Amino acid sequence: MDVQRELRRLPSVDRLLQEPQVMELIRASGRELVVDVVRAVLEQARHAVLAGQPCPDTEALIAAVAQSLAEALRPTLRRVINATGVIIHTNLGRSPLSEAARRAMWEAGVGYSNLEYDLEQGRRGSRYYHAEALLCRLSGAPAALVVNNNAGAVLLVLSALARGKEVIISRSQLIEIGGGFRIPEVMAQSGARLVEVGTTNRTRLSDYERAITENTALIMRAHRSNFRIIGFTVEPSLGELVELGEKYHIPVVDDLGSGTLLDTAPFGLEHEPMVQESVRAGAALVTFSGDKLLGGPQAGIIVGRKELVEQLRHFPLTRALRVDKITLAGLQATLLHYLKGEALQAIPTWRMIARPLDELRATAERWAEALRAAGLPAEVTAGQSAVGGGSLPGETLPTWCAAIAAPSPDDLARRLRAHEPPVIALIQDDKLLLDPRTVQPDEEETLLQALIHAYHQTQHASEK
Ligand SMILES: *Cc1c(COP(=O)(O)O)cnc(C)c1O
Repeated sequence: MDVQRELRRLPSVDRLLQEPQVMELIRASGRELVVDVVRAVLEQARHAVLAGQPCPDTEALIAAVAQSLAEALRPTLRRVINATGVIIHTNLGRSPLSEAARRAMWEAGVGYSNLEYDLEQGRRGSRYYHAEALLCRLSGAPAALVVNNNAGAVLLVLSALARGKEVIISRSQLIEIGGGFRIPEVMAQSGARLVEVGTTNRTRLSDYERAITENTALIMRAHRSNFRIIGFTVEPSLGELVELGEKYHIPVVDDLGSGTLLDTAPFGLEHEPMVQESVRAGAALVTFSGDKLLGGPQAGIIVGRKELVEQLRHFPLTRALRVDKITLAGLQATLLHYLKGEALQAIPTWRMIARPLDELRATAERWAEALRAAGLPAEVTAGQSAVGGGSLPGETLPTWCAAIAAPSPDDLARRLRAHEPPVIALIQDDKLLLDPRTVQPDEEETLLQALIHAYHQTQHASEK
């Protein structure tokens, strides 16, 4: 092939920009971006020609421009369908929000709000006022503060109350949660000195008492969240720690991680520590996440004693951990569901926990039937859904899944991820599993169509 002749056939940037289809793209997406994309596409074509390929025709170049433009304009953060059965899936954005929470967040974004404006007095107010009354009522604590996330809440508490001082914690609670949150490192970051007591499996009240000095600022308890210690173990209760703290005038801080306002036990799960219980047991401050079992937007919630919360509010780091108006609106709407006693029905996270087994089975059977009708080898199988999100480690809920025996489940899973919207499934025993528990009713049809499409693609690929 004559490379020079092929190169001469390549249109100029200006000529391509005058193609009617490209002019249409300019009208829709702006000249600057389209010019960039056209340049890049032509550059790529030039490289291909130099490598001995024939010059692509104008149609092919325009198609490449359109595709490259669509990729550049597609948001990277997109909705996905979660068919894994992991309810609070940190990689998939933790808790989906209730309709009321979504509406409140939308409202807060549409116009101005009284975020920091006291409507009665007609002057500056505080954003921290909004969720506080609700949090106090629901938790039983006298004061509350909301920050960006629970990692921030823990960092704030330690920085504001224990910088340059000592914090006593059991060795069995020096945990790491996902995303690089490690208690010893957060402690170091805050400027507090970690005083670890006891052993990995056994820590007694006397271990704490012996570690108390005139430099002790706090006693801390952290929920293990993502693992369990079983066997020969002992740990003092929160109440015992509080009693010890009172004797020496040392506040006890309880990092619950997930925390919950509703009891998990009625759903066949272990009892996840409840916020109200920690407040009642006398913890000076309790910290927990907004988007784990609470089922709201990402937030870090601190409830507890008035004078301590007041201290936190005025600490400079609080400004850097400031929660935004959209989060506050969603959190407030989520908390209202608890106040009205409708959390189980209104909050998706709880609805998914509470879904009856026979309903899950009927859904899995309906899916398997629809898939078989489309020629897929689908059946129904018993499975386990995880609650996830640093709550109830090792605990699962029984469920029923649709299972597809594809020649290559990995390939099928990959094609499902490439679907629009992407579908995330599980692979177990060489089968692709779909757990109905985490799939919203309005996603079902899309999910089944995606699967049928992806399965037939894998069939074509393996026939080639
Ligand atoms: C999840 C968790 C955190 C971090 O909370 P985020 O809201 O993810 O920042 C802190 N402590 C414990 C015990 C946790 O389980």
